[in-house]
Amino acid sequence: MTQSSPQSTVPFLPFVRPEIDEETIQGVVDVLRSGWITTGPQNQAFEAALSEYCGGRPVRTFNSGTATLEIGLRIAGVGPGDEVITTPASWVATSNVVYEVGATPVFADIDPITRNIDLDKLEAAITPKTKAIIPVFLSGLPVDMDRLYAIARQHKLRVIEDAAQAFGASWNGKRIGAIGDIVSFSFHANKNLTSIEGGALVLNDEAEAVLAQKYRLQGITRTGFDGMDCDVLGGKYNLTDVAARVGLGQLKHIERFTRQRHALARAYFAGFEGGAAVKLGIGLPLADFTNSNWHMFQITLPLEKLAIDRAGFMGELKERGIGSGVHYPAIHLFTLYRERGFKAGMFPHAERFGASTVTLPLFTQMTEADVARVCGAVNEICAKFAK
Ligand SMILES: *Cc1c(COP(=O)(O)O)cnc(C)c1O
Repeated sequence: MTQSSPQSTVPFLPFVRPEIDEETIQGVVDVLRSGWITTGPQNQAFEAALSEYCGGRPVRTFNSGTATLEIGLRIAGVGPGDEVITTPASWVATSNVVYEVGATPVFADIDPITRNIDLDKLEAAITPKTKAIIPVFLSGLPVDMDRLYAIARQHKLRVIEDAAQAFGASWNGKRIGAIGDIVSFSFHANKNLTSIEGGALVLNDEAEAVLAQKYRLQGITRTGFDGMDCDVLGGKYNLTDVAARVGLGQLKHIERFTRQRHALARAYFAGFEGGAAVKLGIGLPLADFTNSNWHMFQITLPLEKLAIDRAGFMGELKERGIGSGVHYPAIHLFTLYRERGFKAGMFPHAERFGASTVTLPLFTQMTEADVARVCGAVNEICAKFAK
């Protein structure tokens, strides 16, 4: 992509770009030539490698991180009449799946520092109908897992971790996926580990894994050469072997990916320090270099102090050859949710975050010089449009 800008010699910097190595590309070609392109040996290998990564827990792959959430809820027995507590500051898939299984999402506002669900508010939202919790680890920063599971145990609730953004993250030295109840990962193209599209569920035991397999493919069980039964209403959510081969190729690099993301995030903090943007009041993410995988670097704009709105700010970045994104507008303000009774003012922290956040470029093939250029541009735009 090229941009007509004063710095048109500098290539456009997107906010995200996957890194696929040549060995993986060749591996995909080999799969395409092998004669077996849908779910098969590459999936088995991917599931085995993911299971090893997750401390030996059972893992099943799916064709998206939305399917994994929905099926995670079904495995946990969530259905009509049940309430599921989650955060309004997430990708809308997180709560859409609750409606999809016939249950009711209940939101608890975020902590404005971590931007994750506020566990005090979560606890206050528990009712006799509450069946499960879907915590989201926004940008790969886990919630306080000790406290979360203490609440879940005390109230006998299931947890389906929306760890879509948290592959490679950890909690006090333990990998996300290696601990907890049901864990849902996404391997969408923008995630830290990708299979183009895809996802995986980390489960508690073989019985859950067998059920996951049934939900994944029409509820079918095969026995012997010709035996077939269907005893569960399943769907069509299996991952292709082409996708699994991409995921396998990525998994080799996950520790380097996370290290590089940490270095780039540190470069952002250094690049913003003492600059015009911080002086004006832009909000920076929590500087966690223990647990987070730094899936994204999201700032918040002090819109009341700027003479442009967020779209204008993103346009100014684009003019300087820099891509940006918004992750995410508060879910409860979408039409579908307003029609179900949610209103502005219910979750003020998520609303403020959703209206003012901008995701800056962060991906493994970026350099610290790119980060410096982004910080320079943000400072310049803040100085230029300060009220
Ligand atoms: C990406 C994402 C999902 C959905 O994953 P898909 O693979 O795109 O279906 C769900 N929740 C969160 C927080 C995500 O970031």
